[in-house]
Formats: sequence, structure tokens, C-alpha cells
Amino acid sequence: MLRDKIIKTQPIVYKTLNNAIQSKKFAHAYLFTGPKGTPKKEAALWFAQSLVCEHKVDGFACEECDTCRRIHEENYADLIVLDGTKSSIKKESILQLQEQFSKTALEKSGKKFYILDTAENATTEALNSLLKFLEEPNGQDTQAILIVDSIDRLLPTIISRCQIIPFKPLKSENYYDEAIQDGMDILDSYILSNLVKDIDLMKQTQETEEYQTALVAVERFVTQFDRDIDRFLVWFETEILGNKDKDKEIYKMFLDICLLFFRDVVSLKSEQSGWFGKEVKRVAEKKYAIDRILLILLESKDKCNRAYNLQLLIEQMIYQIKEVL
Ligand SMILES: [Zn+2]
Repeated sequence: MLRDKIIKTQPIVYKTLNNAIQSKKFAHAYLFTGPKGTPKKEAALWFAQSLVCEHKVDGFACEECDTCRRIHEENYADLIVLDGTKSSIKKESILQLQEQFSKTALEKSGKKFYILDTAENATTEALNSLLKFLEEPNGQDTQAILIVDSIDRLLPTIISRCQIIPFKPLKSENYYDEAIQDGMDILDSYILSNLVKDIDLMKQTQETEEYQTALVAVERFVTQFDRDIDRFLVWFETEILGNKDKDKEIYKMFLDICLLFFRDVVSLKSEQSGWFGKEVKRVAEKKYAIDRILLILLESKDKCNRAYNLQLLIEQMIYQIKEVL
């Protein structure tokens, strides 16, 4: 249930919406704001469901009935979703929306909703038309939900007409749990939830050749860096490097996973099973100057984008780590 997820990950959002639902006092317009990856769109649809579901549970949507399902699929006659995620929202779309909302509701609940996803990506003309509409929404039963990643990019005049509902950034643990539930492998879930904080991006990244290759390289690196780092270097240069388009991406991802590994060594976090957890434990017992290794990896990552010769950069990194040990 989405409700459980919101209660767990966005308690303030839940509390605010719950207050509105229980008191039946709603703002004309809500502004859902929070970093990319937070469940703003899902929550917007869920909120709409909760206002019209005929089988409510404690005032909230059952998330199962025909009405709930149609809203979820954006297939509800009195719901309009304007999507600014891929292309900007134009003035014509806002005018069409106003036109449709001036008519009687089609569904029997009588309530009408519109959601502007990534509203910061609307043109100035669209926002000016919207402003008028927010002032005179044609009747009391129109509910607006604007969704933005960052409030700074929206006109203050629009912001002042909305009730702001802030979504807090998700912790990596939330993404980890979600990925595990989705059936992702434990180690991939752990690494990717720390690297990319977005469940869809985690899945996409997991399937890339760059990630898979980087992971193999990290396993080799952490088992060999203090035993035979030169052997690792030879292997990396002969087996990994060679594809100009992918080398940099692989190396950057390699560094990111290594950084996660050595941070875990410092914090003695080794609850990971398999080679990752085993190596964290082993390296932690060695009392190396891990802070200096972290610095070397960070510097290498910083130089990576500007690096003309990647091989040279990797050799420098290896040489510096050798000096620390
Ligand atoms: Zn329902």
C-alpha cells in the first residue's frame, strides 16, 4: 500500500494530508515539493484517490477499487495530468484545462483534479494563465496539485497561492528496502541505493555493462590492493581498458564503489554478506591510513572528467595508494 510507504518515508506529508482529510478542510492548490526520486506524483494521485474513493479506510483511499485504479492509471474523466518531465507545459494546455474544468464534472463524485508534474518546467505564459486559474478556479470542487523538485524555480505569486507540502529526501535505506522487495540482489541493492537515489535509475544502472564491469574490478581491487596492487593494475589495463566510450564511466563507477567500500571500512559497517562484507572486515583490521586512501580516490574522481590520459590517471592513483600502505 502506498499509504504505508508514505507513513514510513514521509511522515510530515502524511500528517498534513491526514489533517486536511480528517477536518475536510482543503486548500485549493497544493504544492508538493521535494528532491527528484521522492514519491510526489504517487502521493498526488493517492491524495486524489482519497478524496473520491468509495471504500475509504480511515479517510484514505482503499487503493483497490475501480475509482482508485482509474485514478492511478490516470484514466479518470475529471483528472488531468500535465506532464512537464519531458517537455515544457505550454499555455495551450493550461487553456484547454480551464476550458474542460468550466464544464460540469463527468464523474459522479463531482470533484475535479489537475496535477502539474514538474510544474517548474512550464513556460512563463503557461504560468501566467495558471495564476489566473488558481485565483478563480471555477467552483469549489477543483483541486490542484503542483509538483516541483525545487520551489526556487517557481514564481513567488504561484507559491503564495498554494499550500506547500515538503517531501524530505529519501535515505538510502528506503531505496535499499524497495529494491530488495523488487527482487534485486542484496549487494546490488546496497551499492546502488548508495550510488543513485532513485529506484528506476538503480534498476537501469544495474543492467549496464559499466556497472557490472566496475563491480568485478572493485572485488579484485579490494582483495589485492594491499597484497599485489601491481597485478591488479596489469589486469585492469589489459582486461578492462580499451573501449574509449566506456572506460571513463567504468572508472568513475569503480571509484564510487571503492569509496563506499572504504567508507564502510572507516565506519566498521560490515553487515554485507559475501566478498564485500568479508573484505570490509579484513581491511578494517589492518589499520591502514584509510582517510588518505579515500582522499586519493576522491582526487582521482575529480580529475577523471578532465583527464586526457585515463591510463596515466589510474597509474597515478595506484602509485599514490602504494605509498600510503
Ligand atoms: Zn478506492
